Amino acid sequence: MLAIWAALVAPLSAGALSFSNRYRSPRNPERAIRKATRLIVLHTTEAGARSSLNKLSERGEAHYCIDEKGVAYRIVDRNREAFHAGRSMWSGKEECDSYSIGIEVVGHHDKPVTLAQLDAIRDLVALLKKEYRIDDAHVVCHSHVAYGAPNKWQKRNHRGRKRCGMLFAMPSVRQRLSLKARPAFDPDVRARRLVVGDPYLEKVLYGRVDTMAGKIGRNVAPPPKEGFFASLFNKKPAEMANEPEKENYYAKPPAPANAPAKAPKKAPAKANANPPPAPAAAKREPASQRDLEDRMKYRELGTLGPKSSPYKVAGRSWNAATTYYLIRGRVVRGDRLDPKRAQAGTRVFTRK
Ligand SMILES: [Zn+2]
Repeated sequence: MLAIWAALVAPLSAGALSFSNRYRSPRNPERAIRKATRLIVLHTTEAGARSSLNKLSERGEAHYCIDEKGVAYRIVDRNREAFHAGRSMWSGKEECDSYSIGIEVVGHHDKPVTLAQLDAIRDLVALLKKEYRIDDAHVVCHSHVAYGAPNKWQKRNHRGRKRCGMLFAMPSVRQRLSLKARPAFDPDVRARRLVVGDPYLEKVLYGRVDTMAGKIGRNVAPPPKEGFFASLFNKKPAEMANEPEKENYYAKPPAPANAPAKAPKKAPAKANANPPPAPAAAKREPASQRDLEDRMKYRELGTLGPKSSPYKVAGRSWNAATTYYLIRGRVVRGDRLDPKRAQAGTRVFTRK
């Protein structure tokens, strides 16, 4: 019966996906055949399609790249190693390139991608999951696995070298990708192989931060067709998805904030007419030193200089949302700080 079910669903889920070999990498012949495939790693290119595709192809830095129209470009052959993860580690195993597939998505780590891209990612990931027997919680973002060596800002090996692909950890996006689980915590931080270098990123990957909620798939009917076919066999889709998980640190992602309400349909109309103010909107961001000190009761920690980096002044919270920098009169929140712009003379504030 499972075979019948698979035969019905498989062509549907793969049907719409279109591939292109136009940017297949010239590096292919020199790349080793990958010995293992345990992870699918999602990236964001942080650049436009043309330059992303040219660069990825030239350097062989991904297996696939999905442009805004949802075309999946094959770059490095999926059985070879692509150089996409850089300095990386997952569950104590370094060099993720040697055991993962990398998918680049044209877009930015903190902005919504197109619906065509979401459909293409969902379909491509479904095909690869099936081929390599990978479960949902092993579909991760580059920022899950990348780590940084000690530097000026951070004294130890740390998670949070980059935020690449982080939107793909957000519950609303994962729901749209038909992914029912994500890693529940960072195995390398828990084992003290790494420290947390980016507290905001940690909240996105493992907490409930979901800046894409309400911005994803607004005008489109929910895509998964499994529910319908599964119901033919009198099984709830949720039960079919509940396969035993191999490693205990994986859990289901928290329900997205904009998940369709299961209550009867009378309440929403009224709720939509008068939406309650979001807590974030009610809390106005500080615009000046006076705002910081008088209204928010923040205190000054110190000033940046040649020998006092943000890390030296604010410690581990240097890039937290509770730290603020006053750069030439402009207030910048810690989690939005570009360290390159934090010049000498910048004053640092934190909660009292
Ligand atoms: Zn990346």
